[in-house]
Amino acid sequence: MNFLQLQKKFPTEKAVVAHFVAIRYNGTPFCPHCASVSVYHREDKPKVFQCMDCNNSFSIFKDTIFENSSTDLIKWMYAIHLFLNGKKGISGLQLMREVGVTYKTAWRMLKQIRLAMGNEDLKEYFETIVEIDETYVGGKPRKGNKGRNDNGDIENNKRGRGTKKTPVIGVIDRDNKKVHAKVALPNKDGKKLTGKQLLGVLNEVTKAGITVMTDEFRSYNILSSNGFIHLKVDHTKEFSNGVAHTNNIESFWATLKRGVYGIYHSISVKYLQQYVNEFCFRYNNRKNVEMFDLLLVKSIKM
Ligand SMILES: [Zn+2]
Repeated sequence: MNFLQLQKKFPTEKAVVAHFVAIRYNGTPFCPHCASVSVYHREDKPKVFQCMDCNNSFSIFKDTIFENSSTDLIKWMYAIHLFLNGKKGISGLQLMREVGVTYKTAWRMLKQIRLAMGNEDLKEYFETIVEIDETYVGGKPRKGNKGRNDNGDIENNKRGRGTKKTPVIGVIDRDNKKVHAKVALPNKDGKKLTGKQLLGVLNEVTKAGITVMTDEFRSYNILSSNGFIHLKVDHTKEFSNGVAHTNNIESFWATLKRGVYGIYHSISVKYLQQYVNEFCFRYNNRKNVEMFDLLLVKSIKM
């Protein structure tokens, strides 16, 4: 959907409400107090419906990311549109200018949209061959530090293992290219990620029996004793045999890092998972023409 199509789709707040009623209630809103479908859209309050049976009113945005917001619904739709279409995301400052809200509101809107993005449930994917890998995010590259590469990783410790950055563990299905990634708690005293931590994330989206590609990091040795078929990539060899590689997950890391370092500059550990969810959602739905509506479905809290 491009901007003109967005404008056509949502010319008024009423149009947004009608669309959301279609998404949330399949077109037939009902009263949460008495379940009656004899309800009507109140003229005086754009988000509120009135029940004719029990005389209560209700917001169709209750338990959604829009619940406590007084921001115009058209602005919300525009913000979602911009957020989903910017390959690297969008900053609060940019959103403030584009949509015409305060910085505080823009920041909050982005946070809420990220919550919806984190509602993605990927349980049914990851059935063929997957790649698992970890990356390390955070910490501004120091000026004049020649030891760092483009990703901000320390060159002489390329994979960042043992650094003070925050580890993120990612799994990607090589067939449908869906990705699942989780921020891991860094181990105290800079210890490397454990096999248990890696296995935990893998188990969230896969079952034993599938084939898993990893690099040579020793903590992955736990996989074969847990029922996975484990293939390792040897990064020291110039050419791999073509099958055992982790190129897909590595390309996702590149996108994530471009966004984190380019748009968001530095992100505190507290919010990192929300940003990771954002990049996963955009990546997983990059070819989904229904991405906008999917976001609206996920805006309903689960
Ligand atoms: Zn009612």
